[in-house]
Amino acid sequence: MRGLSRLHDPAHTGPNRCLPCTAVNGVLLVVVTALVAVASAPWLAVAVLVTGAVLVWQRGYLVPYTPRFAPGIVETLPLPDDWFRNPPQQGSLSDDESVDGGDVLAALDVAGVVRLEGEDVVLEDAFERRWHEEMAALADRSPAALAEAAASIPSVESVEHVRSGGNRWFVVDGRHDLIPRPIVVAELAAVRTLPDDVEPEAVRLAASRVLRQFLEACPVCETELVPSSTTGCCGSPRDAQETRVCPECEQRVLTIPEPDSASEA
Ligand SMILES: [Zn+2]
Repeated sequence: MRGLSRLHDPAHTGPNRCLPCTAVNGVLLVVVTALVAVASAPWLAVAVLVTGAVLVWQRGYLVPYTPRFAPGIVETLPLPDDWFRNPPQQGSLSDDESVDGGDVLAALDVAGVVRLEGEDVVLEDAFERRWHEEMAALADRSPAALAEAAASIPSVESVEHVRSGGNRWFVVDGRHDLIPRPIVVAELAAVRTLPDDVEPEAVRLAASRVLRQFLEACPVCETELVPSSTTGCCGSPRDAQETRVCPECEQRVLTIPEPDSASEA
């Protein structure tokens, strides 16, 4: 399977797979296979079908440059935008949006978790090391044990783990959001590692959300994160937000904040 993995393109498969691109290419593949079957030998048609299917599976699409022309085609179709949008995967242990992003950064700066270098915010090595150790320890826990640990945060009342779409998710305080496992691991590890003087609890939780912006690898499996978007590659660019996802866990790890919002993650 080594040859297959060389073909693999995480930018258009897994969590980044665009259903319209895949569907359009699937239809084209069937049409081409039928034409080959009629015009040539059946074995050649089978070869075309198998090769095409492997390419769509591993690369997300078959026709070169599909993501470049497909958005234009999709925009002209009289269909709801929602059909072409990956389900929104917002979610964080805290849904409290009232904490100011500037206050969070100031608290982290005072506590020695980050330092401000001009326009840049730099994570301090000592905190980063402790945070990553805690993430590694939490990543080894079963979903039930992770849920129990997350529920021990004072302002969190309940955490349940659920399985959906072949993945593990967490439901906090009965909210509608399904929170990906890497986010629970990252935020819980941050809450447990932050110095005591990052307070009150709402600021600690907001800080744990902001700290996800510093992740370059998945907190669960340590795979390098890949760019994605909250809309599929064929989707309307309206309201799309840039994200980083783990291609291995097939889950979102962070959302790049809009320029005017420092607290979103
Ligand atoms: Zn992962």
